Amino acid sequence: MKKFNITIAGGGSTYTPGIVLMLAEESYRFPVEEIKLYDNLASRQEPIGKAMEIMMKEQHPEIKFSYTTDPEEAFTNIDFVFAHIRVGLYAMRELDEKIPLKYDVVGQETCGPGGIAYGMRSIAGVLEILDYMEKYSPDAWMLNYSNPAAIVAEATRRLRPNSRIINICDMPVALENIMANILNLESRKEMIVKYYGLNHFGWWTSITDKAGKDLMPELKAFVKEKGYAKETEDYQHRAQSWKDTYLMAKDVYALDPETVLKYYLLQDEVVEHSNKEYTRANEVMDSREKEVFDTAKGIIEKGSAEGYTFAVGAHATFIVDLACALAFNTKERMLLIVPNNGAISNFDPEAMVEIPCLVGSNGPEPLAVGKIPEFQNIPI
Ligand code: NAD
Repeated sequence: MKKFNITIAGGGSTYTPGIVLMLAEESYRFPVEEIKLYDNLASRQEPIGKAMEIMMKEQHPEIKFSYTTDPEEAFTNIDFVFAHIRVGLYAMRELDEKIPLKYDVVGQETCGPGGIAYGMRSIAGVLEILDYMEKYSPDAWMLNYSNPAAIVAEATRRLRPNSRIINICDMPVALENIMANILNLESRKEMIVKYYGLNHFGWWTSITDKAGKDLMPELKAFVKEKGYAKETEDYQHRAQSWKDTYLMAKDVYALDPETVLKYYLLQDEVVEHSNKEYTRANEVMDSREKEVFDTAKGIIEKGSAEGYTFAVGAHATFIVDLACALAFNTKERMLLIVPNNGAISNFDPEAMVEIPCLVGSNGPEPLAVGKIPEFQNIPI
């Protein structure tokens, strides 16, 4: 069986160690020959790269591993790029959140003024990586989950319409994991979902089990009482701010049973409950970022990863599902951000919408959604 060469762009990201370990764990179904990390900032790449080099040599010597800040080295002879970059790091995310809040407007990394600012920063970075990939490995696929995914996807549609890039977000996956947990299912893959929206602004319209049984009534009864407040395996969603968001789904549900659009429908409440001095960026810098870089430092100082762990990015297996679908033509049904092109019949054909697609070796085939209701169709 062919083994694949992968470059992780944003190699100094807090998510990188977890993705590398997840890839090693999933190699029974997605065989990996080589993993390369690439970041454009040596001060981020060096500690994460060095620590992972030590850990991989000890725990997964069968996988070739390296890290670099040199684009040619990073993007030559690869099959896939997994991209999760944050242009401006958390320092800029902090401003994206705090400047709008100063004016009593929602401060958030993917929507509102903060989302626009982050989008403007991210576009050039994502295009740069795509261009490197096309220059050095023109047959490779770029699986992009850098945020703000909706804006980045729109930029790639306009500026690189023929490129082999697929934009995907973990948020629907994370919520479906919680739904499956609420419904006492072993996995979200036991659910057949119908869904449409813009990224981070979407609606599930039908959820059944594989035999066709409607699971919505049970799910709605739970959300009505408790939102999505249920234990989650997703490491980043265990923080207090995420718990608050999941609980708030209950209030949004009371307004409009189909939505989770707290930033639109409950703007004032969100602003009221925000700490203008300490936002999500601060929460991450004080927790995940600190933990990941402290662990990396410990491994490097000891020269061994014995006694050290990074959280394995188990929830990120959706990226492997996507890579497998492209590599092995599995036709798996996945929610992707793609040009509408008539899939939602009464919505802008050029909009980048998040809808179910079947994914095979030629890329995503979007499924028809049909006509959507007036409220969700308001142009924004
Ligand atoms: P982070 O700040 O820890 O890491 C991002 C890394 O990207 C940094 O090391 C930075 O130097 C690097 N970088 C920035 N510009 C670059 C460029 N042009 N080329 C190469 N590297 C570059 O951030 P994080 O919290 O790990 O998040 C990374 C990204 O992943 C964010 O955009 C985040 O929103 C996104 N994310 C997406 C999903 C999803 O499923 N859509 C889920 C989680 C995180």
